[in-house]
Amino acid sequence: MSSNFRLGIRPTPLVIERGEGPYLIDADGNRLIDYYLGMGPMILGHDPDAVIEAARRQLDKGILFAGQTEAEFEAARLVCELVPCAEMVRFGGSGTEVIQAALRLARAVTGRRTVLKFEGHYHGWLDNVHWSVAPPADRCGPREAPARVAGSAGQDPAAGEAIDVLGWNDADALRARLERGDVAAVIMEPLMCNTSAIQPEPGYLEAARAACDATGTLLIFDEVITGFRVSAGGAQARLDITPDLATFGKAIANGFPVAALAGRADLMERFASGGVLHGGTYNAHPVTMAATAAVLRALRDGDVYDRIEAQGRRLMDGIAALLAERGVPARVQGVPAIFHVALGIDTPIRNYRDSMAVDRETYTRLTAALLARGVRALERGAWFLSCEHDAGVIDQTLAAFADALDEVLEPVAG
Ligand code: PLP
Repeated sequence: MSSNFRLGIRPTPLVIERGEGPYLIDADGNRLIDYYLGMGPMILGHDPDAVIEAARRQLDKGILFAGQTEAEFEAARLVCELVPCAEMVRFGGSGTEVIQAALRLARAVTGRRTVLKFEGHYHGWLDNVHWSVAPPADRCGPREAPARVAGSAGQDPAAGEAIDVLGWNDADALRARLERGDVAAVIMEPLMCNTSAIQPEPGYLEAARAACDATGTLLIFDEVITGFRVSAGGAQARLDITPDLATFGKAIANGFPVAALAGRADLMERFASGGVLHGGTYNAHPVTMAATAAVLRALRDGDVYDRIEAQGRRLMDGIAALLAERGVPARVQGVPAIFHVALGIDTPIRNYRDSMAVDRETYTRLTAALLARGVRALERGAWFLSCEHDAGVIDQTLAAFADALDEVLEPVAG
């Protein structure tokens, strides 16, 4: 297995043969309704014809050129057309990488070293950002002054010296920290999807924007999950707050390895003219750029978001109703394209600390029971929708959910 984030798949990692629309077919021939969606990317489903065809046509022309292609220009133009903060864009191969480019750029522009991140937010697995992503309760420190907790053995402690950690959704704490005037950038998931699916409190993003402006701090939205998923312009369009820089991945290319850093031209130009290095042999790989352009055209021109909003809302409401009918304390929160189901808690989850009360053990048994009924959902509670999840697929999912829930609750009830 090549990513630790697949180690949590229960009861055992699956061997997948192929994908079709909202389904995966495993090596045993099981047809599974898929809510993993490759951990988020497959917003158009598993085999969108136009995307696959665009990649094939580009592949027929060759593989890699270390030069510009029309496909790259078109993909870049589409990102700039769709995303509010995007005046210029650079492509890379993974979210992890482009986040590093964003942080380097922020330090170069501001001349400051410290980056502020939030508990429970994930910005890639590298030493300088993988802090306090899922810290255990006994090491978190006080809520108002979270400890900085390394996420991996072998992580360089010195790489954490330039990161400060705060609790999210607390405007006063953020303002107070920025007033010290030493922070290069604030990086956050604007709609927090790696811990639960948490909306910003009313006014929180506005307060963050204002505090950054007042203190000369750059605001970076990590939209690797939310970008091109919660709307064609990402969370920044849906929530109407424009950051200085934003990072994208996942849905931008429906499963091809593409990521992007986009933002204000006066900042982005520093890569070309200001001595800020960003490189990569495979950046803007022609085949993936052709796929990206095809995905972005589909997202711009089709009814993808209307379909996802309608069917995702039905699924969220249906799951909440099934849990309520059985008297199970639970939260279903987020937006139709990416929502989260948590058991054992019925008050709103507003930050990482709130999410620690969730009953993960029962939920993991529930996802195993779902899998046995042909529905593949993430063990950590997230549900990703594609535009291929139609009314029939949602009905089937809800029937499986009811049945799985009854199986999981039985020992408790009896
Ligand atoms: N940022 C966020 C919000 C993510 O969810 C992820 C991956 O899940 C990343 C960054 C890292 O992206 P990648 O896995 O493409 O390196």
